[in-house]
Amino acid sequence: MNKYLYAYEALASILTKEEILLDEPMKNHTWFEIGGRADVLVMPDSVDKLVKIMNYISTQQIPTFLIGNGSNLLVKDGGIRGIVIKTDRISGIHVRGSEITVECGALLEDISTRAYEEGLTGFEFACGIPGTLGGAVFMNAGAYDGEMSFVLKEVRVITPELQVMTVKKEDLELGYRTSVIKTKNYVVLDAVLSLEKGSKEEIKEKIEDLTKRREDRQPLEFPSAGSTFKRPTGHYAGKLIQDAGLKGYQVGGAQVSEKHSGFVINKDHAEARDVLNLISYIQSTVMDKFNVELCTEVLIVGED
Ligand SMILES: Cc1cc2nc3c(=O)[nH]c(=O)nc-3n(C[C@H](O)[C@H](O)[C@H](O)COP(=O)(O)OP(=O)(O)OC[C@H]3O[C@@H](n4cnc5c(N)ncnc54)[C@H](O)[C@@H]3O)c2cc1C
Repeated sequence: MNKYLYAYEALASILTKEEILLDEPMKNHTWFEIGGRADVLVMPDSVDKLVKIMNYISTQQIPTFLIGNGSNLLVKDGGIRGIVIKTDRISGIHVRGSEITVECGALLEDISTRAYEEGLTGFEFACGIPGTLGGAVFMNAGAYDGEMSFVLKEVRVITPELQVMTVKKEDLELGYRTSVIKTKNYVVLDAVLSLEKGSKEEIKEKIEDLTKRREDRQPLEFPSAGSTFKRPTGHYAGKLIQDAGLKGYQVGGAQVSEKHSGFVINKDHAEARDVLNLISYIQSTVMDKFNVELCTEVLIVGED
């Protein structure tokens, strides 16, 4: 019996029925294609609805977890209790001069395409990161010498106390895969990106070059959550894992990619426990061989 069924009617007064899913498998909402059921999953299509849902949830003290495109998540096999809010339908992108205001669920790929169309440069680095704006601000996503901190001007958030406020870039505490959004449990509503006028031809060339580099090096043909581990100081996680002889190593359906050892992939109907066992094995092997601690970049959530 779903413990949060009672919330359905209140949620249905904010959302359409099609925007509320009960006992929804999270594997349908993660890039890893792994994860047990969420009691309730809601998919608001506007910032206004998102704020209303958060207001309702706070009156009920229901556990909540927010996801964007699910591209940096490993959801455990027991799923997620309470309400999962998925933001990828809140996806407005508005351009004014060289600034772009983006809603939290807009895909980085769509923002990068729009920037190209407007002849704006600076966002090409993000074209192949399969996340949303909110997820990217949360962990200061970056690639190929670019990161969110280079392009953010300000972010509008809602705090756990339900206060909506604008946080300037210098107060976002953006670091390697971290931000104030992560440390203070803020929810990103939207953000202003500050880009520069550039040559459309050069922007297109850069996007094509970065896309090719990803396709050549990353196992994009398999479900994953991107780089499994953070870069340890002075090392590359992928190289350590490969040098430890773990390339292609498999536990159940989870495998260290044969193309890029920094990626654990869902090779064949993996369960979360396969991935977790493989991650532990990689961590202990690399520690034994090289005395280096590997910390996960992938966020692990939910119940066993
Ligand atoms: C093939 C592949 C390649 C990747 N390459 C890169 C890369 O080059 N560089 C890189 O940095 N990452 C990369 N990633 C990881 C991932 O795409 C990024 O971390 C991305 O920013 C996650 O965004 P998301 O919307 O999918 O977040 P999710 O995975 O849905 O969520 C991640 C975290 O962000 C939080 N979050 C999401 N939206 C909001 C919001 N609106 N407000 C507050 N918190 C929020 C969630 O609560 C969660 O804690 C890759 C992943 C894959 C699968």
